[in-house]
Parts: sequence; C-alpha cells; structure tokens
Amino acid sequence: METKVQKYLECFHLPLEKLQEISARLKKDFNRGLGKHTHHRAAVKMLPTFVTATPDGTEKGDFLALDLGGTNFRVLHIRVNEDEQRVMKSQNCAIPQEMMVGTGEQLFDHIAACLGEFVNSQDLKGQTLPLGFTFSFPCEQKEIDKSILIRWTKGFNCSGVEGEDVVKLLKEAIHRRGDYDIGSVAMVNDTVGTMMSCGYKDQSCEIGMIIGTGTNACYMEELKNVKRVEGMEVKEGENRRMCINTEWGGFGDDGALKDILTEYDEEVDRTSINPGIHTFEKMISGMYLGEIVRLVLVKLTQEKLLFNGETSKALLTPGTFETRFISEIEKEDKGVENTKKILADLGLTSNAVDLHIVRLICDTISSRSARLCAAALATIVNRIRVNRKLDHLKTTVGVDGAVYRKHPNFSEELQDMVRRLAPQCDINFIVSEDGSGKGAAMVTAVAQRLALQSRL
Ligand code: BGC
Ligand code: MG
Repeated sequence: METKVQKYLECFHLPLEKLQEISARLKKDFNRGLGKHTHHRAAVKMLPTFVTATPDGTEKGDFLALDLGGTNFRVLHIRVNEDEQRVMKSQNCAIPQEMMVGTGEQLFDHIAACLGEFVNSQDLKGQTLPLGFTFSFPCEQKEIDKSILIRWTKGFNCSGVEGEDVVKLLKEAIHRRGDYDIGSVAMVNDTVGTMMSCGYKDQSCEIGMIIGTGTNACYMEELKNVKRVEGMEVKEGENRRMCINTEWGGFGDDGALKDILTEYDEEVDRTSINPGIHTFEKMISGMYLGEIVRLVLVKLTQEKLLFNGETSKALLTPGTFETRFISEIEKEDKGVENTKKILADLGLTSNAVDLHIVRLICDTISSRSARLCAAALATIVNRIRVNRKLDHLKTTVGVDGAVYRKHPNFSEELQDMVRRLAPQCDINFIVSEDGSGKGAAMVTAVAQRLALQSRL
C-alpha cells in the first residue's frame, strides 16, 4: 500500500539539485524584474519600495497603522521611542467575504470607518497622526505615499482599484466622512513592515519574508542595480540601497515552473479567483496548501488507496480541508488523535493505515512548500552576498505568517534547506510580533528622520 501511495506523491518531491536549479531560475528572474527594459513583462516584479534605510534606533513618535491583506484587517496606535516600538492599542476589524470581492469604494469606506471608530475611541481625533499603511498586495510604488495596485491576490478582487493609487483612494474615503483627518502616509508591503520592525532590534535585518495566507519576501538591494527607477543616480563608490519587494509569488507565471507543477497545482490554479497568477504562491502559502492536500486525498480515495475507496460529501467540496489541519495532523504528540477527529468531521471512516497515509500526504505537501521557500530565500541571500563581494555573509531575516509560525516543523525544514543551498551565508531568523503594523510605523518614522536630517 505505502509504496503505491509513494508513487502518487513522487511528483511533489524536489531533491537538492532540483532546488538549486529553481533557485538559479529565480536569480535570472530577479535580474529581469530589476532591469530597465525587461521589468514590464517580468513574472517576478522586483518592486521598488522607496525605503532606503533601515532603522538606526533613534526614531520616535506616535503613529497610526493599518494592516490589510492577511487574515485580519487591523488598526493600530503605535509609539516608537529609543528602546521600544509599543502597540498602545490595536483593533481587529472583520472584512466580510462579499466586501473582498465587491467594489473598491465599499472597501475603502469600510476601512475609513474602522479607522474613524478607532481614532474616536482612542481620543486621537484632534491629532492628525502620520499613518503607515501596510497593504499586502503588489503595488508599483512611485513615492513612499503613492502606490498603484498592480493586481489583487489571495482572496481579494475589488473592482476599480487595480491601476489606481491606493493612498488616494484611502484619503478620498476619509474625506468623504469628514470627521477626522490623518497626517502624512507611508505605504508598505507586509514583507517590508516585517523587515523594518525586526530591524529595530537587529540592525543586520535586511530581509523580510511572509509565509501566511500568501507568500513573498523583500530585501535591501544596491541602488545601482535598481535600473527600473528613474532619477535616483548613484555616484561611483556610493553604497546606497533600496528595499525591493520581490513579489516572488509571481514566479512561474510565465511558465518557468512548468516542470514541477503537478495536476493538483493546475487544478488549484484553475479553480482559484485569479487563474494564471501567482503560480509559486499557490504551491506554498496557506490559502492553497489545504486544498492541494484535499485534491490528493480525493485522488487516492478514488484509486482505492484510502478510506476503503469511499469519499464523502465534505471531502468532495472545495475548501473544506483547511491549511491549519495540516499543522494539527503533523503534530508530534497529538497528531494521530487530531487526524482521527479531522477525518471524522469530514465524514470519513479511517483505519490505522489511513491515518498514516494522510499524515504522509500532509508532510509531503508542507515539505514541498518549505523547500520551495528555501530555494527562493537562498536566491536572495546569495544575491546579497555577491552584491557586497563577500566570501561570507552574516544576515538576519524577519519572518511572519501562520504557515511559518504554526506548523510544527516547517521553519526547521526551511532553515536546514537554506543552509544547504547557501552554505556561504550565516542566516539568523527572527519571528516578528505584530511586524507588519509596527513596521509600517517604523517606515513612517524612518522617513521622518531622513527628512529631518536632510533639512539640517
Ligand atoms: C502579495 C504580496 C504579499 C504576500 C504576503 C501576496 O499575495 O502579492 O504583496 O506580501 O501575499 O502577504
Ligand atoms: Mg513536512
């Protein structure tokens, strides 16, 4: 039985050499994304963020932060001073499913309403605080406060927002209300927020990575390599840098990953709200992993290798196998117990062999995800090392996202694999707490510090 099952799972296995090859392909895509004449058509967008400095620890002040694009929409009041970034207060606001695919105006009115309620309840109404807006979608940033949405990803698909400046849409919604105002705005991707909030504690943090609902990473690139930004001339010998939001989720959208896509990946893509988009993300992130597992379960049941060949109504329904089940099933101690319960809730009758096979499937899918992330992260650290002409690079990655945080061995597997793929790099991983919100405040704070310094 098990060897028959293994045969079906073979398509998910990625040996070290394959990962090296994938990392090399991504390296080429990085250059394409950064290039002056190639970036328009690049699958991996390499978006400039206009964040040119990480924190130096002297930043301070009070900030508002919005965090949109993960599982929750959050509003935060953050105080930054010499020794901490403190969340004074935060509030989660639900975004109803219909709103995620409704009109942009509705969405921004809702955001403005949540912010208004928060500002009111915190007695911040008269203060016009600067606002950091973490918006976790690919944006073509023109300046720190001008950010055009390229396309929605994950579960969002609101009309009238793609191609528009998100800061403008937010300000318009606030002005439509007219009962409060905000100060200057800084737009950040969640990866950038994560890097910046970790960078406050560890100044060698120059990579941010998210493995949650979606996946992505950013890193500090040499400004001279960012050929797609006009008007940022760098003099000989100057070491100026800019944070690049890689949007690695789009890797493979031009067919570059064809050889490793399985029939299950193709099905997930076909039934998603954005077919053809974010191929790499769909093999890795929390929005999709559970669904991949479900499709494999269905297949193996139909092949009579599971559950005595009997599926259930729940198992045949898309979205019923949640990604968090994978973590629960793979738990060392409670795994078997959890598996029984999850399968029973899905209306499936299982024996001991079934339990073992289900766990094997979950392990296979989560490991593939961890290994693919490792290959992509290896591309980044190797690139930074070569950029700086170093034999050895010591660096820190700030990380966030439920898949990384909650899965019992995902982080370990990812870290082991990156070390093998980037042996000349010594990488420290920090999990960020409230990173994207705090980080948005940090970006705003650093922008203020730099503006102040340039006036002196
Ligand atoms: C988005 C990225 C984001 C990532 C993690 C992706 O779908 O395109 O901008 O950083 O999800 O939230
Ligand atoms: Mg695994």
